[in-house]
Amino acid sequence: SASIDIRDVTCTFTTKRSRTTAVDGVSMRIEPGEFVSILGPSGCGKSTLLKMIAGLVLPTTGQVSLLGRQVTGPQRNIGFAFQRASLLQWRGARKNILLQAEMRGMDKQAAARRADELIELTGLTGFEEALPHELSGGMQQRVALCRALLHEPPVLLLDEPFGALDALTREHLNIELNRIWRETGTTVVLVTHSISEAVYLGTRVEVMSARPGRIVETMPVDLPAARD
Ligand code: ADP
Ligand code: ADP
Repeated sequence: SASIDIRDVTCTFTTKRSRTTAVDGVSMRIEPGEFVSILGPSGCGKSTLLKMIAGLVLPTTGQVSLLGRQVTGPQRNIGFAFQRASLLQWRGARKNILLQAEMRGMDKQAAARRADELIELTGLTGFEEALPHELSGGMQQRVALCRALLHEPPVLLLDEPFGALDALTREHLNIELNRIWRETGTTVVLVTHSISEAVYLGTRVEVMSARPGRIVETMPVDLPAARD
């Protein structure tokens, strides 16, 4: 069955002063192992859509299913990384990654082993003890990515994970992200406003329109999985 099944979903935010329909009638099926880029301008509803997959925001109408089960609240079996790394400032890189294990009550040895694998995979070797303020923005995002992957989630959700970084660092991390995706087989949904990034990373690009939160085009990306 599909990793993610979004059926005719809308999301309207109501405040005292206004009503905003952030997502308006989106349907999408994402199969296991796919890398789907959701491309659109700022404010078109990309983050809201991702949060609905994660169960952090519930749809006003329609349904989201994750791994065959309807999403009715925060999901545990996913990894999530945002534009800001949100690391604990008083903890070193490795301990920030292991936070995920503590929160989930993972087996300590298994978590430590997985953390070391990810540290190597993302080029953080030598920075295990470094505190966030001692790391560059790119390094901090690597830590956040490791933290999101520690429990080997079947689904990884990425909200402009490298959006705040300079172009060269982004390019570097995107090459690594592509490699990680191929090595882990994780289903990935990436939100971005960069056309080149969406196409470079995705096996499929879903284009969202500025307003009102709709998918206006679906483009399969006709490239082999390996990008380097
Ligand atoms: P994007 O990720 O594409 O930049 P968002 O999903 O963050 O777009 O936002 C889509 C629209 O929904 C915007 O107009 C935004 O202001 C509004 N919105 C998002 N979250 C909330 C919220 N919690 N309360 C009210 N409005 C919101
Ligand atoms: P924007 O579309 O946001 O203006 P660019 O067009 O410069 O930015 O590209 C955005 C990002 O897309 C790059 O920084 C890089 O991360 C990614 N990208 C595009 N093509 C490649 C590629 N061939 N190899 C690696 N990363 C790429």
